[in-house]
Amino acid sequence: MYIWSPWRGCRRVSEGCRFCYIHKGDAKRGVDTGSIIKNDDTFYAPVAVKKDGAYKMRAGSTVYVCFSSDFLIEEADRWRRECWEIIKERNDLNFLFLTKRIERFADNVPSDWDDGYDNVTVGCTVEDQGAADRRLAVFDDLPIKHKNIIASPMIGPIDLEGHLKDVELVVVGGEQDKDARPLDYDWVLRIRDQCVISNVRFQFRQCGTHFIIDGNVTKVPPYQQGAVARKMAVDL
Ligand code: SF4
Repeated sequence: MYIWSPWRGCRRVSEGCRFCYIHKGDAKRGVDTGSIIKNDDTFYAPVAVKKDGAYKMRAGSTVYVCFSSDFLIEEADRWRRECWEIIKERNDLNFLFLTKRIERFADNVPSDWDDGYDNVTVGCTVEDQGAADRRLAVFDDLPIKHKNIIASPMIGPIDLEGHLKDVELVVVGGEQDKDARPLDYDWVLRIRDQCVISNVRFQFRQCGTHFIIDGNVTKVPPYQQGAVARKMAVDL
């Protein structure tokens, strides 16, 4: 597994961005997150080679793209075409990016995209029903070979019915912050039920800071949030 950050920085676009970990981390370091800058040191990382000419990134690996930005952010339009060329050259790697800007996807794919590259997975992130209605209405019809839905941070109940066709994986997680909005376990189970019916893989990744079970709110420290979710043993 590799992380590839061809640029860094982002701007908030919706409620799910309120406690964005990139903004929080940058604020601590005094970095302006809203300044989107190209990472010259790592831009060509997937095609970097060793002395013997072999690629440094091992074939068959997953590459997480833009986890300190949004792959579809407007400020990176001038650099994205070259990224697609790199992704195409490394068709032996599996590239995955998540986005809250899925409405920009169709205008930002390469001319030979057709019904999608085999080695690209796109995760459409939704935090509540409003975001799901807006973004999944677009996502449903996009030609993408591998689709994920990321309901994280989930800050309200979400109904995915009608949006699970062609989706390979749904991931659910809570919000992480001392002021985080709570995650109700009933919301998690409702999505899971829909995944069962549609035969879609489901992962409950972490429960967030304020987790509600049977109406009772528990405050969960960051280092336990993944373990609490795993303990529920609801992954499919
Ligand atoms: S889109 Fe993602 S990376 Fe950008 S501000 Fe929102 S949560 Fe952070």
